[in-house]
Amino acid sequence: MAFPRSALPTPALIVDRAALERNIAAMAAFAEAQGIALRPHAKTHKSADIALRQIAAGAVGICCAKLAEAEAQADAGVANIHLTSPVVAPPAIDRLAALNRRITLSVVVDHPENVRALGSGAGGLTVFVDVDPGSHRTGVTSAAAAVALAQAIAATGTLRLGGVQYYCGSHQHIHSLAERRAAIVERTEYLDTVLAELRGAGFDVPIVTGGGTGTFAIDASLGVFTELQVGSYVFLDREYTDCELAGPRFEPALFVDATVVSANTPGMVTIDSGLKAFATDAGVPVVLAGAPRASRYAFTGDEHGALFGDNLPQLGGRVTLMPPHCDPTVNLYDRFWVLEGDTIVGDWPVTARGCSS
Ligand code: PLP
Ligand code: MN
Repeated sequence: MAFPRSALPTPALIVDRAALERNIAAMAAFAEAQGIALRPHAKTHKSADIALRQIAAGAVGICCAKLAEAEAQADAGVANIHLTSPVVAPPAIDRLAALNRRITLSVVVDHPENVRALGSGAGGLTVFVDVDPGSHRTGVTSAAAAVALAQAIAATGTLRLGGVQYYCGSHQHIHSLAERRAAIVERTEYLDTVLAELRGAGFDVPIVTGGGTGTFAIDASLGVFTELQVGSYVFLDREYTDCELAGPRFEPALFVDATVVSANTPGMVTIDSGLKAFATDAGVPVVLAGAPRASRYAFTGDEHGALFGDNLPQLGGRVTLMPPHCDPTVNLYDRFWVLEGDTIVGDWPVTARGCSS
């Protein structure tokens, strides 16, 4: 496949192959230099092509958020997956047990009832104690609860304790690096107390997994994590480029190309990319090319967005935008168009698109 970018039907999700490869290599080099294992979160890209590239660059495996996502990645050849959300429904536990027979698999737990269910329904599985950093999404909420959960895991006689997961989701986008660092230092002191109590109670905690694109460099400098779960670094997005990031520099690698479909109002044009083209949780996309960077985007409907500003493109003009939030934007598309220079050289399926169950 080779055709000009300008021939793509829009809206089109585009990955810049060279930028992606540089991002993958930069994070792999960072983790290697720090002596920390890398297990990128595949919730960001949902793509086996990208997961296998991350593994080829040195990652020990990937994370998935959902069981169906992990099944899709396993079907496409990914052989080592950690599930970062609990799996509790009985039919899902059966699927988990089946997946565990096919690949190297682990899953988080945060409740003794779930531990007992996994112990009888998915014997042989490796489980991680999920520790809540205070956001109350998932995880045990005290060191004592972590120890009690580890005891419940041991009591099954069939589950293996792989370690601890700790993901400070609400800290990833604290804009100021100094404020983010201070918050993570404080949260890591708490993690240290949980680990000390687990180890004091006689539990081996070989792996401490967590971290995201906003905190991985801070996490690495504090020396508590043995494994990084970074996701968004492969693409970046507007939300992360707005933050003061630390560590290696990453480049925007994910774009949406759009077309001007109406241009009848001075200072404004309508493009073919709206609520179905970008995730809407994190503000608006920004213009990177095809219109002045100062142009402002506004969602105007399911299929449409407006650009406001001076020197806007004419009817039929093409515009390149950076999504506000990469992961849920990717999930809106069937495929990535793979860009090299100005040429589309292939397409990769969004392997686990919609696999949220
Ligand atoms: N780990 C967990 C448990 C997550 O939920 C996420 C993202 O939401 C990540 C890692 C990756 O974070 P980021 O995309 O900020 O790198
Ligand atoms: Mn995200």
